[in-house]
Amino acid sequence: MATYKAPLRDMRFIYHEFLADQHLEDMPGMEDVPPELVDAVLEEMAKVAENILFPLNRSGDEEGCRLENGEVHTPRGFKDAYQRYREGGWPGLTSRPEYGGQGLPETVYVLTSEMMSASNLSFAIYTKLTHGAYQLLLKTASEEIKNLYLPNMVEGRWTGTMCLTEPQCGTDLGLLRTKAVPQADGTYRLTGNKIFISGGEQDLSENIIQMVLARAPDAPPGVKGISLFLVPKFLVNPDGSLGPRNRIFCTAIEHKMGIKGSSTCSLSLEDATGYLIGDLHKGLRAMFVMMNSARLEVGLQGLGLGEVAYQNAAAYAKERLQGRALTGPKNPEKPADPLIVHPDVRRMLLTMRAYTEGMRSMSAWVGAQLDKENRHPDPGIRQQAEDFVALLTPVVKAFFTDLGFETANLAMQVYGGHGYIREHGIEQFVRDARIAQIYEGANGIQALDLVGRKLPAHAGRYLRSFFHPVQRYLDERAGQAQLAFVTEPLAKAFGRLQRATAFIAERSLADPNEAGAAAYDYLHLFGLTTMAYCWARMAEIAQQKIKDDTTGFYQAKLDTARFFMERILPRTSGLFSAILSGSGSIMDFKDEAF
Ligand SMILES: Cc1cc2nc3c(=O)[nH]c(=O)nc-3n(C[C@H](O)[C@H](O)[C@H](O)COP(=O)(O)OP(=O)(O)OC[C@H]3O[C@@H](n4cnc5c(N)ncnc54)[C@H](O)[C@@H]3O)c2cc1C
Repeated sequence: MATYKAPLRDMRFIYHEFLADQHLEDMPGMEDVPPELVDAVLEEMAKVAENILFPLNRSGDEEGCRLENGEVHTPRGFKDAYQRYREGGWPGLTSRPEYGGQGLPETVYVLTSEMMSASNLSFAIYTKLTHGAYQLLLKTASEEIKNLYLPNMVEGRWTGTMCLTEPQCGTDLGLLRTKAVPQADGTYRLTGNKIFISGGEQDLSENIIQMVLARAPDAPPGVKGISLFLVPKFLVNPDGSLGPRNRIFCTAIEHKMGIKGSSTCSLSLEDATGYLIGDLHKGLRAMFVMMNSARLEVGLQGLGLGEVAYQNAAAYAKERLQGRALTGPKNPEKPADPLIVHPDVRRMLLTMRAYTEGMRSMSAWVGAQLDKENRHPDPGIRQQAEDFVALLTPVVKAFFTDLGFETANLAMQVYGGHGYIREHGIEQFVRDARIAQIYEGANGIQALDLVGRKLPAHAGRYLRSFFHPVQRYLDERAGQAQLAFVTEPLAKAFGRLQRATAFIAERSLADPNEAGAAAYDYLHLFGLTTMAYCWARMAEIAQQKIKDDTTGFYQAKLDTARFFMERILPRTSGLFSAILSGSGSIMDFKDEAF
């Protein structure tokens, strides 16, 4: 059976040491968040993840969700777990105190969210979408709506969903058909069909707040004619109590490869009452608040599943006896040596470890910038932080989910045939990890977002929020021999990234297919370079702390940093060459030959 232990030691390192130079403690509201509080929150979430959520992960996968008479039943134990999650105050961890939240930083949320994804992704999805819907309403809804809905969402009594997809409309939201007809009382009546809606119906919460994209009758065609509506499952009375059932119904749930405990619903809107959120025809822009939050969350899903897969593979590789070390028996008294003696198994384990710790550091960095964007008194710093989050969002979503899936796959490889069969629970990690590369904007679309929108934005301003700190870091450490093992490879990768950026910018002016063909490799080049910067900084901290450490923690950090630089980062060279080859080999191929 698989096990999960929250990586608290590494999380404390990330929050207290890796992020020390971010000076989160100096921002308004952070005086109420002393380091001990952060540690206590992480420890409490570790208990929830290890003792409540993880024990339901396997059974939830085996049982799945059931639809009966229009009602979805989540797997046994989910309801009780949700109740305990609510009682612990987790839904309102980072929400504003005026709506009943605890006002903790997003950085802490990022770490707790990883633990939830690692321990039970299906369960976590119900909560993550509520977090996104809360942020969407906070930024775009009227005071009246906020006062009526947010306290209940913060309390976890009501959950949120995001309803974009329709049978004919996936990536291309311009094809959306759901109609919203205005009524004399200012509400709208919505008619249409949504598919693949996560948590669109479930038995965990008292009400479901569906955030629905639809088209008003006079709307311009395409994405410029989309509006956003709040469509509750139960209408809400002015005093906040639940009114009659709204006409939005679950007609089917999907049977799918993974995340079986998460309900994936077809919803039929049959003159459902909806409330316009934000401006008419400007719904997509508003929805991007939720989509961006969801993209970061989905990235964390890759990290979480990568972590739990790594932990199990590492434990298995120490126990399973097969073959002998190439240099002679390490375990002569036993019939064979453990898997961990074999270089190829070690390669896989170190790859997994370098990825997961690298992703954790990157995600915390993004979390810290989210906090700066929300809280910093200096508007210049707020703007820089916003730019950075916008730039990194597609990278976190796509790079992390690709790495998460690769890591889960590597875990299966370490287990061999015992990973492919169900007994050990490893194949579930692989199945669960796969969807994260697809939903919330498939990874190819994230790459296009990075190259097509984020790079050229404001004449490269977003890009500078990343390039400048990396350049500064390298300049400040020039000539420091003890750090050369990380700074030299980082400088090379960074140089490739800069040259690839210039190449794409120049070539795509003449031919947009150049940008489209380069996008995916570029996103990975970007992700690896960002991760290299984070590993360099982690290695530097480890060098400073290692002499007083008896636990081996900092030594392992240094060793993993070295592995990353020597065995993973060189991939940037291949990506760079592929980008520089241009779009010809992709676009010249004749369609009819496929
Ligand atoms: C389990 C599950 C849960 C989901 N939850 C939700 C949810 O809660 N809410 C919701 O609204 N939706 C949800 N979805 C839908 C999901 O977001 C979509 O499946 C996804 O956005 C892709 O749309 P599609 O499946 O129609 O694929 P398509 O749009 O048909 O795309 C197919 C492939 O073509 C590529 N492609 C498409 N257009 C382009 C382009 N212009 N350039 C380059 N490549 C392109 C894509 O990258 C993809 O690889 C969920 C889906 C699943 C399976």
